[in-house]
Amino acid sequence: KVLVGTKVDINHANWITAYNMLTGIRFVVSRINAKMFRPLTDADFDAKHKFSFDITGNELTPSAKYDFKFKDYSPWVFRHLRQSFGLDPADYLMSLTSKYILSELGSPGKSGSFFYFSRDYKYIIKTIRHGEHLFLRRNLKEYYQHVTENPNTLVSQFYGLHRVKTPFGRKIHFVVMNNLFPPHRDIHQTYDLKGSTIGRDYSEVKLLENPRATMKDLNWLRRDMHLELGPAKKRMFLEQVEKDVRLLQKMGVMDYSLLIGTHDLNRGNKDDIRNNALKVFQPGASTNVEDDLENVVLARTPSKLENARRIRELRKVINKEVPVTLDRSANRLPDEYSENKNSIFYNDDGGLRATHETDEPGDVIYYLGIIDCLTHYGFIKKAEHLWKGLTAPKNEISVNPPGSYGDRFFKFISSVVKSPEEVIREKEARRES
Ligand code: ATP
Ligand code: CA
Ligand code: CA
Repeated sequence: KVLVGTKVDINHANWITAYNMLTGIRFVVSRINAKMFRPLTDADFDAKHKFSFDITGNELTPSAKYDFKFKDYSPWVFRHLRQSFGLDPADYLMSLTSKYILSELGSPGKSGSFFYFSRDYKYIIKTIRHGEHLFLRRNLKEYYQHVTENPNTLVSQFYGLHRVKTPFGRKIHFVVMNNLFPPHRDIHQTYDLKGSTIGRDYSEVKLLENPRATMKDLNWLRRDMHLELGPAKKRMFLEQVEKDVRLLQKMGVMDYSLLIGTHDLNRGNKDDIRNNALKVFQPGASTNVEDDLENVVLARTPSKLENARRIRELRKVINKEVPVTLDRSANRLPDEYSENKNSIFYNDDGGLRATHETDEPGDVIYYLGIIDCLTHYGFIKKAEHLWKGLTAPKNEISVNPPGSYGDRFFKFISSVVKSPEEVIREKEARRES
């Protein structure tokens, strides 16, 4: 209830936090990039560096608008990771330091994490729990090895792991990762699939109001959806999913999902659902407050109501809101979007194009990847499994030990990959019988 009384302050604190995150990233990434490239050592995985920012600056750090502490984890490892994911170092810095927009994430999860988009929409900053942070650090070497051995991995691409600490001592851990969805193509439908059916349904009624919401397994099944891939892509895709799942099982994680955004080439960008729903804030640069806000993108909040409130507060702060629809041509993005050239699954205009039985291209581009992979099957989750298992069949609830979670996940994904022709034949066979 204290929260209700301090709304504005909390908003303000988040705003500053986001600003500090970017200031910190800008500093530590430039710092590591300035060094001569070298191979990794074991010590690089455990490395962490603390920096103190204040308004005057010191011999190590430049002056900043606010006082805060910043911690950078395994900078060399992430520099190598960024390189193996095919990121251009200058580009990365530009994306995370040039002016930012406020955007709302379509259908955020319930974990309480915040998501911040870079202005160009390429990167996502996600705040993570301390447990997730520890988990990533403990498994960084395993992850690194997997990524270098599997350039086509579908698992979230992590580009940085950092922490900010406010003057009040609040520690906020966060990762920088790839946005699976492209800046230049409308996503017509989004699904978050786990291979579980219990509670995996997004209300079809709510969907009418919010057609771009992230749907779940039951919505997928209800629509008789498939990942329409011909034999060649199907094999490559499932082989990679299998390898990725094996890694996640080995690391002992569960609760991850396959996020799929579909772009229907026949519909194209015309009906632009997402653009219309996207509120873009473009703070000017005239006052001090606006200066402070210039580099910040603030993310999603848990409820519509909360979000509306936040937007109102921000309006007051910015005092000049411009709710424009995002005009993609104005962003001067190249038509052929081929970030992430290293992965065959992000190579058809940034995604994976459907194919027919003949391996000829189809009418849909899938933007997909395995997300939310930092939940270790620890004590809390074990308890949840036991508890939920009292009222529903254990293998159907989403919380399951990593081994069976991964097996079920893979089984589900394999069962939905089919060429369009296969789907038609099956439907006909069903009608006949
Ligand atoms: P929970 O633990 O409750 O599932 P969370 O806060 O851990 O939630 P995620 O599951 O990571 O959040 O993501 C929630 C939603 O955010 C996803 O369903 C998806 O819509 C969006 N999202 C997450 N990661 C990405 C990404 N890399 N690219 C595009 N969208 C993403
Ligand atoms: Ca999730
Ligand atoms: Ca999560």
